[in-house]
Amino acid sequence: MFEKVLIANRGEIALRVHRACREMGISTVAVHSTADSNAMHVRLANESVCIGPPSPLQSYLNIPGIIAAAEITGADAIHPGYGFLSENARFADIVTAHGMTFIGPSADHIRMMGDKIAAKDAMRRLGVPVVPGSDGPVSDPKQAAAVAAEIGYPVLIKAAAGGGGRGMSVVRRPDDLAAALQRTRAEARAAFGDDSVYLEKYLDRPRHIEIQVIADSHGTALHLGERDCSLQRRHQKVLEEAPSPALNATDRERIGRVVRDAIAELGYLGVGTVEFLYENGEFYFIEMNTRLQVEHPVTEMVTGLDLVREQLRIATGERLGLRQEDIRFTGHAIECRINAEDPHTFQPTPGLVSSYHQPGGPGVRVDSALYSGYRVPPNYDSLIAKLIVHGQSRDECLMRLKRALEEFVIHDLKNTIPLHQLLLESQDFIDGAYDIHWLEAFMADRD
Ligand code: ADP
Repeated sequence: MFEKVLIANRGEIALRVHRACREMGISTVAVHSTADSNAMHVRLANESVCIGPPSPLQSYLNIPGIIAAAEITGADAIHPGYGFLSENARFADIVTAHGMTFIGPSADHIRMMGDKIAAKDAMRRLGVPVVPGSDGPVSDPKQAAAVAAEIGYPVLIKAAAGGGGRGMSVVRRPDDLAAALQRTRAEARAAFGDDSVYLEKYLDRPRHIEIQVIADSHGTALHLGERDCSLQRRHQKVLEEAPSPALNATDRERIGRVVRDAIAELGYLGVGTVEFLYENGEFYFIEMNTRLQVEHPVTEMVTGLDLVREQLRIATGERLGLRQEDIRFTGHAIECRINAEDPHTFQPTPGLVSSYHQPGGPGVRVDSALYSGYRVPPNYDSLIAKLIVHGQSRDECLMRLKRALEEFVIHDLKNTIPLHQLLLESQDFIDGAYDIHWLEAFMADRD
């Protein structure tokens, strides 16, 4: 096992990785920006190295700074968390070239899945159903018009290098296609440095259902069931649950098997998530994330596995030591993403947390790096806490979630807890009757 792991991230995920390491007797190195000198993961880590100013480009994305910190401290592996460098194939290559282990899949798989066109192509060839669309990049308006006419409007133009819900435009009428194509390519070039775009059928009322996978270096690949992440705002997840209220055992079994076989065939290593849209009983692949996800605790709660521990074990070449039949799903879990944002305008609200109290009791888990007296810096993502609740049934889970949200105190930082509380009052949510557009309509009604 590794002796020392450098955590190339911040916030709750840096703390999550630190915790798994400590439980395994691995010592940790925190790297941080000047804005994060007082962060919880920095305080708890065995060692810490300041790698730059607040700007992510000069700190958490600063590859030479991170590699230097790893070399100085003698770390044998780097855990990238999610976001930042976690899906940067060049970073994975550089870490390896310096004789350290990148805790994640091979750089080739990161590269393949980072290009959504290549990812769809690979998945299609592996027998995974994909969203109908152009079978490659589209740059010529005439070609785009032909593809759109064939798949039918509305269509979605998506950036091959897109992520974080950005780089997508819906086109509802043929007359708007050429201009939208040009605009999306320009936006993609500006945001991702790559103007390749492709076309997809814009599904009307799908749910977002993703399958967690895990694979070791000895040929064992498993699926760990699904998460329903349909509650979204601007294509960004707000609340996730497992199992999905929309799936039956047959659907689950079917998609799980398809995904597991594909991952095994690919020779994939570590954890990953294969994302689908689900509509009228059919699954359509949209993308694969080659890292730990924000919502991984939902799967941990229903399977009893510690995914970060498994990542560390797999990265050292250990066997998973589990078969698909060993994976048991118990009860129901829901995660609320709590952001430092105004619950109405979603404007970020960084600042001082004067007092902090997190909920506890049966079935309640909080992943957060907050503490009383901590100041949330304005430089980063606004996710400040994840409340994850488990119950024997979905009803029990909802009851627990309600009382846990009531107990949560984050003074005086405006945050999105009131939005989650409102959501819990909604009959559609209670019934599990929602698709990817539902939350935005619900919020429009509220306002
Ligand atoms: P990103 O990498 O930016 O997260 P995804 O491809 O995962 O992009 O899509 C994010 C979200 O956008 C999905 O969860 C879904 O809500 C919406 N979306 C993506 N593709 C389609 C599609 N073909 N039809 C309808 N909605 C889509």
